[in-house]
Amino acid sequence: MSRIRARFWDPAGERHSIPTYPWRMAPTHLLTLRQLTAEGLRPGGQGVQAQILWTSRRHGAPGVRAAYLYDRRFALPKRTATPRQLEALAKANAARRTCPDCGRDAGYVLPRHLGTCLDCAETAGVAA
Ligand SMILES: [Zn+2]
Repeated sequence: MSRIRARFWDPAGERHSIPTYPWRMAPTHLLTLRQLTAEGLRPGGQGVQAQILWTSRRHGAPGVRAAYLYDRRFALPKRTATPRQLEALAKANAARRTCPDCGRDAGYVLPRHLGTCLDCAETAGVAA
């Protein structure tokens, strides 16, 4: 292991206060928030369990950077909408499709700049 990697190798968190791994060296059950989300998970009640530290040479923002890790074993499935929430969503979407002029469900979300369905907008345009 190189010296740079050894600097960030601290699985017990003795030097960094939480378990710390160099880039690509973290155990597979530790995931970033983005990785959890990609697996349909959320952290649940757990806080940050560990971190990955690496040295960034990016121009303008050099220095030690961190990515925070969560334990897959404590993660929970992403919340799915309840039937009541789905119903409320369906209602809201229906409202966005309903033309205030003719009162019909246009079958598409009304263009914001028109505020009416295309038929009504066209009629209004012809009348004007
Ligand atoms: Zn209309």
